[in-house]
Amino acid sequence: MAGILIYSDQDPLSFELLTAARYIAENTGAAVKAVSINNHAQAEALAGRGAESYRIDGKEIILEDTAAVARALKGAVETLDTDVVLLSANRRGKELAGRLAQMLDAGCLSDVNALAVRSGRIECTRNALGGATVAVQTVTSKRKVIALSAKVFAAAPDGVGHISDLTLDVKGSGIKLMESRAKAEEAAHIETAAVLVVVGQGLENRKDLAIVKRIADSLKGEVACSKPVATDKKWLAEDRIIGLSGKICKPDLAILLGVSGQVQFMVGIRDAKTIVAINRDENACIMQNADYIMTADLQDVLPELSRALTGTVPS
Ligand SMILES: Cc1cc2nc3c(=O)[nH]c(=O)nc-3n(C[C@H](O)[C@H](O)[C@H](O)COP(=O)(O)OP(=O)(O)OC[C@H]3O[C@@H](n4cnc5c(N)ncnc54)[C@H](O)[C@@H]3O)c2cc1C
Repeated sequence: MAGILIYSDQDPLSFELLTAARYIAENTGAAVKAVSINNHAQAEALAGRGAESYRIDGKEIILEDTAAVARALKGAVETLDTDVVLLSANRRGKELAGRLAQMLDAGCLSDVNALAVRSGRIECTRNALGGATVAVQTVTSKRKVIALSAKVFAAAPDGVGHISDLTLDVKGSGIKLMESRAKAEEAAHIETAAVLVVVGQGLENRKDLAIVKRIADSLKGEVACSKPVATDKKWLAEDRIIGLSGKICKPDLAILLGVSGQVQFMVGIRDAKTIVAINRDENACIMQNADYIMTADLQDVLPELSRALTGTVPS
């Protein structure tokens, strides 16, 4: 293995990729190189974690245009003599992984939940069969593109690295970015939250979301939800969905409010350290999969929980 290249558009995820790359390097002897694109602050932050950090600049590389970013990364792979690329498995990272793998003629695995090196091979653990089981898979092509889920590795600690400029002749993909607008709601990063308060369809009144939000705030956590709460009811944004079609989360604490616990949901939360489920049906699937259960009606529990944690109940 020649070298390992890491890239993420998000600093915290790039720090985790750095740890992952170092782990592979320890077991293979490969060199680790980090790139940042049009982002000098990120290059410095990576160097501050001990990385050999490369800055790529180019006004034709628009970060929203994953085809252009993939071209830049292809250039970096070829110039820096790397054959393994680690990306983050957030929405943009996964799209990038597919595009880059196609350009490099590389094998590609995304949504990787665990990674180990055995006999020089990188073994990736991923959910399979709709989350009903897990599979350990390996890329056999020389070049490999792997997109890692958040929190698979801890963030790299502080260290002393260095920064170099990497000059590449990267053409844009022909896409012209007309406008970029922030989402109406602030982007939720439930995959990195330590505490999640998760709303299922058992929450009957939309106005009770205010209580849920207050409970989450009091625990310094984020509100997340099951898929139908976002896609059918449209009560919360889709970036708060946990599960197969949403995000894989590993919080220290997940409080599930009126969630039945179907496999497609559980895939996204089963690695939480502690799961507390509140459901009025003692036979709901989630009651078999939680660490603590309460068989109760949310109408009764939510005001009590809010009062206990915050001293008040929002009207
Ligand atoms: C290909 C595919 C992908 C999918 N991907 C996802 C995914 O990523 N994420 C996801 O979440 N789902 C996903 N689903 C859907 C999934 O199968 C379930 O339908 C969904 O998770 C159910 O959401 P829920 O638990 O909120 O609702 P329900 O299954 O309707 O459960 C509601 C629960 O609330 C309880 N309840 C009701 N009223 C109260 C009350 N007053 N107090 C206390 N408890 C109450 C009920 O007993 C019940 O257990 C997917 C499905 C498919 C086919």
